[in-house]
Amino acid sequence: ANLPAGDLEWKKAPCRFCGVGCGVKVGIENGKAVAVKGDENSTVNKGLCCAKGYNAVIAMYGADRIKKPLVKKGDKYVEVSMKEALDLVASKMKETREQYGNDSLSIYGSGQWTIQDGYVASKLFKGCLSTNNVEANARLCMAGAVTGFLTSFGMDEPMGCYDDIDHADVFFLWGNNMAEMHPVLFSRLLDQKYKRKAVIIDFATRTTRTSVAADKSILFKPQTDLAVANAISYVILKNGWENKEFVSKYCTLSKGKTNIGYGLRDKFKFSDEPVPIDLDEYIEFLEDYTPEKVEKISGVSAKDIRYMASLYGDPNKKVTSFWCMGMNQHTRATWINNLVYNIHLLTGKISTPGNSPFSLTGQPSACGTVREVGTLTNRLPKGVVNNQKDREFAAKIWGVPASNIPPKPTYHTVEMFRALDRGDIKFMWIQVTNPMVSLPNVNRYTAGAKKEGRFVVVSDIYPTPTTDVADVILPSAMWVEREGMFGNSERRTQYFEQMVEPPGESMSDTWQLIEVARRLGFEKQFPYKKETHIEEIYNEYRQFHDNDKHNMAPLEVLKAEAGMQWPYVNGKPTKWRFNAKYDPACTKGEFDFYGRPDGKAVIWQRPYEGPAEVPTAEYPFWLNTGRVLEHWHTGSMTMRVPTLYRAMPHAYVELNPADANDKGINTGDMVRLSSKRGELVLPALINDRGLPPVGQVFVPFFDENMLVNKLTIDAYDPISAEPDYKKCAVQVEKV
Ligand code: SF4
Repeated sequence: ANLPAGDLEWKKAPCRFCGVGCGVKVGIENGKAVAVKGDENSTVNKGLCCAKGYNAVIAMYGADRIKKPLVKKGDKYVEVSMKEALDLVASKMKETREQYGNDSLSIYGSGQWTIQDGYVASKLFKGCLSTNNVEANARLCMAGAVTGFLTSFGMDEPMGCYDDIDHADVFFLWGNNMAEMHPVLFSRLLDQKYKRKAVIIDFATRTTRTSVAADKSILFKPQTDLAVANAISYVILKNGWENKEFVSKYCTLSKGKTNIGYGLRDKFKFSDEPVPIDLDEYIEFLEDYTPEKVEKISGVSAKDIRYMASLYGDPNKKVTSFWCMGMNQHTRATWINNLVYNIHLLTGKISTPGNSPFSLTGQPSACGTVREVGTLTNRLPKGVVNNQKDREFAAKIWGVPASNIPPKPTYHTVEMFRALDRGDIKFMWIQVTNPMVSLPNVNRYTAGAKKEGRFVVVSDIYPTPTTDVADVILPSAMWVEREGMFGNSERRTQYFEQMVEPPGESMSDTWQLIEVARRLGFEKQFPYKKETHIEEIYNEYRQFHDNDKHNMAPLEVLKAEAGMQWPYVNGKPTKWRFNAKYDPACTKGEFDFYGRPDGKAVIWQRPYEGPAEVPTAEYPFWLNTGRVLEHWHTGSMTMRVPTLYRAMPHAYVELNPADANDKGINTGDMVRLSSKRGELVLPALINDRGLPPVGQVFVPFFDENMLVNKLTIDAYDPISAEPDYKKCAVQVEKV
């Protein structure tokens, strides 16, 4: 632009990082993105931004940005042209498919994929190459929330929206360090705390920055949230605090039989019905969860359990529950999601302003690309692969025979990498994610990917431990170097235009896939024009939801507004689904859970069960992992931002002062952590966070040089297949 020096041209986009999906403005100067500020017109963040968001443009210009494709020759990588690299990828895919069959190919993507990236990946692999080997890293962070929604409501994604924050009297945070993970959203909670005296309850296994700001911090022993949730329901029912009319009109009580994968195994059918029970049977089940009994299991006092129940049970208080990885990365992820829904359903505190059970996502498009476009092995952009009608519907839009889409899911994420390790999968294309840092028990999968006879393609912007296992590295265009869309945690689809040129030969992941699809002979299915492909793909994707309960806003609306929430009906977004006052799709009464055949949500009877691994004499400590405020996910972008790097230059092990004292460990001392799967040496941090329970340590996972996932366990929830990164057993020794 011909701007006077010092003037910036500001263009709007959703933030590149977390699932809050803040609207930002990107300042452009001389063809370079140089600044970010919060967009005051965005209803998400109202002009605010966090340290990561402000630095998103710095993350684009790291010195070691990959600008040319690299092909592995012997021990070295050599630069080639993009044309040569794409030719090689296509020919390798063709050769592998001919020799080993469709299911020898796979693609592993991400909640950082744009909607268009995920859509064309699914179309190419499922529709054209006839393999359901399509997965995304969102399996590692929110699959349990998906199966929780599907089992309780028959439809995925939160029914409420961020405006709930402006109405709720109580915010209940279930294992959710929101102050660090979703900082801008948390600042909206703090606003309400100070303006309206809204109460924040932090219910977690360790104290964090969130606890400091909360009105009450309640700690529980790992995995016992299941028991506490049941105890809260018990107290509500025993005191008659349930909303009897709501329960009888809009809920089914069920003892359930869903203990197998949701659409992941042949046995399980989408139509499996809950087994109804009456209220007496449910209360009898809950007798095992009296506050006194649960105090012994969880370490939470009976008094605190009654207090929590009284907040949910007070008819004059509106309650919004938030959660994220604390509940989803859990070997009983689906169950604990169901149990929090139970509390909201019993009290009727759902789908009205301020009353929401709300699962948050970690990535900018985990909802948009993975959950909505359906980039998981069992899913299609609408429906599931094991439903013939859904396959026929998808095939018609994709322009392929319905028989092309295989009727069975294949591998979820952990099993997909195990299949690569075994050699059942020979070719894997990894886009916009860093599994060799983020997979649990990662040593096992790094070794598998390096084995002879595997061919791994990695599309990324910087070198990572994942590009280290690649045979071909493709340089990707990042964020506003290309056009695209993200979908955030509140069902808001947000568009962004290309604002600057990508470096070197970098290309969007969408266009890389289209180029390869054409080389494989699918020109007819991928006819898009370079200048208009984002719009063409979005319009094609919208056909999946034409006039259904997931209706998406037209592109011109997304461009004009700071995003738009679906279902978008008669020119309006839907803020609270399933409530006839706000959601035009409700036809059966005041509330209509129309994802379920009978329009009723399910209150599930789910027991407490222990974790996959518990501390022993040899490995006496719990290990918990997670993120920090300064870095985003595996740190591949934010560690290249000098301000963020200096603020948090490396990982650490956070120790309880009592444990540290016992072991003679001070802050800065080097500590060896070991589990059955590996060991790691890193500095200790002893502070007023990470307080009881004694016997738990915490390590953030952003640091590829101090890789905590060498230690974590790859056990997963059998329904959602989401692994548990929050609990395994380790030994702690001063080095
Ligand atoms: Fe970006 Fe999340 Fe920070 Fe908002 S809270 S600016 S979306 S990282």
